[in-house]
Formats: sequence, C-alpha cells, structure tokens
Amino acid sequence: MRILSAVSAAFLLVSSAAAQAQAPKPPKLVIVISVDQFGAGLFEEYRPHFTAGLMQIAGGTVFRNGYQGQAATETCPGHSTIMTGSLPARTGIIGNSWFDQSTARADKKIYCAEDESVPGSTSRSYTLSAVHLKVPTLGDLLKKVSPGSRNVAVAGKDRAALMMSGHAADQRWYWNGKQFVTDLSGAVPRSIPLANAEIAKLIATAAPPLDPPPYCQAKARPITLSDGQTVGAGRLARAAGDYEGFRQSPDFDGATLAVAAGLVQDLKLGQGGSTDILSIGLSATDYVGHAYGSEGEEMCLQMFALDREVGDFLRAIQAMHLDYAVVLTADHGVEDLAERVGAPRVDPALSATAVGKQIAQKIGISGRVLIGGIGGDVYFDSALTEKQRRAAQAEAIAIYSAHPQVEAVFTKAQLERIPLPSGPPDAWTLAQRARASFDAQRSGDLIVLFKKGVSLIAKPEAGDVATHGSPWDYDRRVPILFWRPGMPASTSGAPVDTTNIMPTIAAMIGLPVDASAIDGKCLDVPGVVCPAH
Ligand code: ZN
Repeated sequence: MRILSAVSAAFLLVSSAAAQAQAPKPPKLVIVISVDQFGAGLFEEYRPHFTAGLMQIAGGTVFRNGYQGQAATETCPGHSTIMTGSLPARTGIIGNSWFDQSTARADKKIYCAEDESVPGSTSRSYTLSAVHLKVPTLGDLLKKVSPGSRNVAVAGKDRAALMMSGHAADQRWYWNGKQFVTDLSGAVPRSIPLANAEIAKLIATAAPPLDPPPYCQAKARPITLSDGQTVGAGRLARAAGDYEGFRQSPDFDGATLAVAAGLVQDLKLGQGGSTDILSIGLSATDYVGHAYGSEGEEMCLQMFALDREVGDFLRAIQAMHLDYAVVLTADHGVEDLAERVGAPRVDPALSATAVGKQIAQKIGISGRVLIGGIGGDVYFDSALTEKQRRAAQAEAIAIYSAHPQVEAVFTKAQLERIPLPSGPPDAWTLAQRARASFDAQRSGDLIVLFKKGVSLIAKPEAGDVATHGSPWDYDRRVPILFWRPGMPASTSGAPVDTTNIMPTIAAMIGLPVDASAIDGKCLDVPGVVCPAH
C-alpha cells in the first residue's frame, strides 16, 4: 500500500503541467484487453458492481463514449482498429468475411484472417494469416525500431489474436474449438501444453450452475423463442465434455487469461530492456451475448465473473512486480434479444438471395443476380452484362428502399466519393459510418443498412439469438479505459474513437508514429505526452 501511494505521488508530479515536457518512463509491458461485445451500455450498467479487475482498470482514465465508428460493427473490423490506429477502410478489414468473385473457390467467400492463396484452403477450413490486414499494428511498428520488444497475443478467437498482433508477432495463441493453438512456427512455451491439459480437464468435468448475486437474480426472466428454446434465466451450467457450453461461459475467459499469464511468465514479458506488448482477446462475453442476449441473468453472471477473472489475472501480473499499463476496450457492442426488448427481427425476404430472385424475375434473366447475406455488403454477380447490371442495380435499390425495415442503401460509387470521416464519431452520418468500413476492392456493390432496432438475426437458433453488426450506437459505442499505477481516476464523456488507442499507447511508450498513416489521434491521458500536432 505504501509503495503504491509513493508511486502514485511520483506519477502525479511527473504529469503535472510544469513537468509536461518530460514524458514519464514508458511501462515495460502494455497489456491491451479487448472484451468481445462489451458495449458501453454493459460497462456502464455493471461498473458500480465491479469489485475486482474491472474496478481496478476503471479507476484509471475512462472514456465512456468510445466508438467503433464504422457501420460494419463486427469482430474482425473492430479488432483491426484497436492496435492499428486506423479505420477498417484503411485496415482493409471490412467484415468478418467478404466475397471475392475472382477466387477459384466455389462459395467465393473470404475469411478476414486467412490467406486464400494457400492451396487447399477453403472459407471453412482456412489457412490463418494477417495478409488481409493492410496496415501495421503497434507491435509491428515497435519491433521495427526496437527488435528486442515482444509482440504477443492470446485470444478466444483467431481473428482477434491476428488483428491485434498483425504481421510481426512473436507468439500468438487462440482457441481452435478444442485447445489453444498457434499459426506461427517456433518453440512452444512450456505453459501452453500445461494450460491446455488443465483446460481439457476442466471441460471434461460438468460445471454446476453459477451462483447468481441478487442483482443477477432480479434479471432472471425466462423467454421462450420461436424455435422452442428458453433463454433469460440460465446460469451457464454445462455437461461434461460440452465444448460449446465452455465457450459460452466465464471459464473460457479464465482459460484465455491463464494462457496469457503463463506467457508473461515464460517469455519474461516486461522484464527486458524494452517495452513488450501483450494483446488479449476475451471472447466469452460475445458467445454468451449471442446465445442469451445482453440483458438476462446469463450475461449478468458473465459480467460479474469477467470482473473476477480479470482481477485474478492482474493479481498474477502484480505478483511478478512488473511495470505495466492496461488498456481495455471492445470490438463492438450488441443489441439485446429482440423478444426481450420488443424489437422486430429482420425480414428474411431481405436476404441477397431472395432480393436477387425478385430482380431476376423482374428484368427477365435466369441465374444469380446478387451475392451476400442479409444486409451489409451485397454484390452483383460478375456474370451479369453491363446492361443487366445497371438494370439490376436500379431494381435492387428500389426493392430495398421500399422495405419498411431498410434505413439506407449506398452504392459503391456513392461511398467512393465521400472522404474518410474524422472528428467526433457520434456525429458521423450513416454514409460516413458506411465509408469508415468501405474498401473499393473488397466491399459490396451496395451497402444495405437496416432501421435502428431491427435484429439482424431472422430466426433464432441455439447459440445465436442476439447479435450486432448494425451502424447504430448500441453496436458502435464501447468503453475505452487506460490504467497505470497511480493514474488519477477520471471519466470523460467526450466521444472518442478506438483508432485513438494506438497513437495514445505509442505516445505512452515513446514510439514515433506517422500521423498521416493512421486515422486516430493521441488522447489526453494523464502521464501520456502526445506529440505536438
Ligand atoms: Zn466481436
């Protein structure tokens, strides 16, 4: 305690106005945590209930109105912004997947974190790679000027680990559905097989229902969905060997954090001559949210457990006596379960296949017209003649625009004319949000956006009842937290962007960044001296 307050006094001294010219010493280890689907609404609701790790981090500098500014509020684009300082339009990661009609594979679908040029790769059995990420991450840039620095990532999802670490990772580990694995070659740290063995034992054992605190008990309200499943009052119990249930439980985050702590120890992160970067992707909140929604007893239990799991992890780091900083944010938010909030589910007649069939009939052609899912990026089949394509585009815009669930339809040509948005992300127009995740080579010929509140899942299924991906603030708004020992607590309501995280960390560790190569700007955080603009 005394040591902590001494550190804190020194910190305040350094960050006072008089000493502004002299930057405080950079931390030896920067831990960047992305909690998948941890929207600003969840953070604000549970903040008063956090007593462990999340309380510690929220005791630093809190930006409660952070934004993943882009319309494509999905995991891969979201994670691509955090460590690159760039919008998906610049990172090239416009979605979790997109369509490329020039590829040989039959479904034409490309996963964001794969290299489809590797023989034998398919969209389902892909070869992991960061090749689609068009920009360097903070770790990539750091290693160029400081080769001794380590760039390490651990995540529940492969795309989170790849997008946060980038092209020059020293180690990265992610869950493949059975165990933590890597796409990189090289020596396997001692802790990895040990952690995998422990996790296998955990999954092999049945997990009893979690014990809900009164706040969660009060949320328990069973809701039966159209497919017969009931959600809302679950306690995340699972049978022995239930791998899916494990992913939809706090144990998954606990396992990810255990692997992260093991790597810190094995690789002696934060103990070298230069700063190391550890990116952590915690995915359980997303799996719980998709399976149960965000306002039931299940998510409540996940939030309380997440706080404890992060707390245990930070205690382990503290016990290693490292000089570390923590940054915490999310890749996107979520919309709660449609049936709980009384929101409509999207009309299946709006799928690219269904709309394409209507168009084909109308303009009198056989064969496929549109490629895509339901909303978002929609592509014209490249087999159409120029004349057919023009007719199809006019029909598609008319059909989508006439539907009461559709808010806006943008064409590629429209978005190409708009400059990349900057300034406060809360004020961006829908077109600017769409532009922020637009890439001329990868994006659809049309971007279809639905009205606020429309759930993007037409029919709920087990594990998939609620989701995100809209251009609306419930999906865009995320918390952004910075913590270092002794940092004074402050909360800002200023609208800021997740692209600001990378230049802020860069300033914290004294890494020069070409401001014209990124979209974000260094944030005003105590102890961080931003470069003069
Ligand atoms: Zn996600």
